[in-house]
Amino acid sequence: MNFGAGPAALYPEVKEALAKAIIQLPDAPYSLAELPHRSATFVAIVNKCNDLVRSLLHVPDTHETIWIQGGGRTQFAMIPLNFLPNNKQAAYLDSGFWAHDAYAHALKYGNAKIIGSSQRENYKYLPSIEEHNADSAYLHYTSNNTIYGTQWKSIPETKAPLIVDMSSDIFSRPIDVAQYKMIYAVAQKNIGISGVTMVIIDKEFAATALKNIPAIWRYENYIQQNSLINTAPVVSIYSCFLTLLQYQKIGIEHIFENNLEKATLLYDYINSEPLLHCTPEKDFSDMNVCCSWGNKAMDEKYIAYAQQHGILGIEGHRSVGGLRISLYNAITKDNVLMLIDNMKAFANAVR
Ligand code: PMP
Repeated sequence: MNFGAGPAALYPEVKEALAKAIIQLPDAPYSLAELPHRSATFVAIVNKCNDLVRSLLHVPDTHETIWIQGGGRTQFAMIPLNFLPNNKQAAYLDSGFWAHDAYAHALKYGNAKIIGSSQRENYKYLPSIEEHNADSAYLHYTSNNTIYGTQWKSIPETKAPLIVDMSSDIFSRPIDVAQYKMIYAVAQKNIGISGVTMVIIDKEFAATALKNIPAIWRYENYIQQNSLINTAPVVSIYSCFLTLLQYQKIGIEHIFENNLEKATLLYDYINSEPLLHCTPEKDFSDMNVCCSWGNKAMDEKYIAYAQQHGILGIEGHRSVGGLRISLYNAITKDNVLMLIDNMKAFANAVR
């Protein structure tokens, strides 16, 4: 089982349908990988994705969904390029490596300020928000810190336009889209395979973008051209379509309940096992559970043991070490129970 942080586990139904479509797309004489991005078939797929996102997340009419090539870092660059004019400052919450990298990208373009950081404590918890200018160009934060296992469960308070990187917890819980000017999430964790990023953006906010930027990096153009400015990542978007169909079947509320149950099971076990401890101190994430057996040698021993039993992708990020167990939507409760049994067997063997 793949408990990796991304590219992450996909639903078996998605993998099966994707594999078949690569050979031959349903109702088409060729492979999905050969499907022209401007064909009526593909335009219909993009439209269906947008409709599914709208109904799953209750996206209001003020906002539009668009699909952009490149990953999270492309967004780190596009955000200031579009929305950080010379006479303004952008505010960033520094809650982890990715949050910091988003800030570092903005610094290349203009005036960006960190308005809360937990970097000195190696991001073991979420930072508190300092006073900041209500006139900030925007406030950027990362809803789930994939590397450190911390997650914002409520929306940071601000009067500035709010932009969020939801790469590692989108579709894991209900959200209030209207609170945000822009939400973005890479596909490879909770939406599909890598190669595309989903963006939900307020149309009026998109229209405020700076004028003299290349067309390919302008959000408004993606809205106007239904995400088809250039050759779209057809296979990636189709994988998102297949995953969204699963979400439609299950429902976001139910997915959220499942995720809470999975996370509670695992955290309860970790807290009950004296040999194990969580690496963050608080603000624990439901998506990425970071923990350790107490030292590097034991963690490595467990990673090798787990691998022998088909449990993969659990090594922590190199900057943190330990274990990171990702519980994205496609991971089932049974997968988590299997993992806990494996950890119990290991603990008994080494005790
Ligand atoms: N944001 C978050 C929250 C992430 O976990 C990651 C890592 N996948 C990124 C951004 C960077 O994404 P990419 O590797 O696609 O640039």
